[in-house]
Amino acid sequence: MAGNIQFPSGLWTEDGFRTLTAPLQGAFFTLCLRPELGALGAMPLFLGRIAIATAGADKVSVLDNLRCLALAGWIVLDEGEEELFVPRFMEFNGVEKNPNRLRRAIAESESIESPIVRTAVADVLYRLSRIDADRAAERLCKVESGQRPKDRPNIADETRHAVYVRYGWACAYCSHQFVQVPTGAPEDEAAGIWLELDHIRPYSLGGDDTAANLRAACSTCNRRRGVDDLDLWADKTGGA
Ligand SMILES: [Zn+2]
Repeated sequence: MAGNIQFPSGLWTEDGFRTLTAPLQGAFFTLCLRPELGALGAMPLFLGRIAIATAGADKVSVLDNLRCLALAGWIVLDEGEEELFVPRFMEFNGVEKNPNRLRRAIAESESIESPIVRTAVADVLYRLSRIDADRAAERLCKVESGQRPKDRPNIADETRHAVYVRYGWACAYCSHQFVQVPTGAPEDEAAGIWLELDHIRPYSLGGDDTAANLRAACSTCNRRRGVDDLDLWADKTGGA
């Protein structure tokens, strides 16, 4: 599909694009040319493959660029589920004007696991104002979310508990204090947040599910971390 990409000429003068640094613009184009994006514009977080396609880049710098692009709204990134989506891809790809490509894009949307990406895809599909796209968007929003990929075992309860104890049942970022619970997720119902496990070194960069690689983070900080706090992330991982 990469050969069909046509970046609109107006892209260069769009404020959101013009204000990106040249390396980020380059990173965005490199990403848009990945064949794994298919017709829809969603793909697994193949940091290695993207790095190979980008001169002088390694997985860490690729992930940093993707985080910046996500922060600027050019991509949707789910590091936990290891999926990304380029919301404008179908526009670049002429999907609206090509029923065959739209059918392919809809078919591809069914294999997306990330709830964040599913929601973003549904959003784009709804905007096409076509009955088939609307139906696909409804399906995307209905599917149960939050499962881990099938090949990845759940983190053991003992590990989870040990991490929460290590952080004193508080969020490592905002220090929000939770009440200790014997099992399951500590929850603050009044604040509408709960405590989660956060990978210090992301799974996509080879981080594992051991207690040493996990920290406690509240649900709000955990969602924010991927795009908001690159410096903090770099500190905690030693920049690696
Ligand atoms: Zn927090």
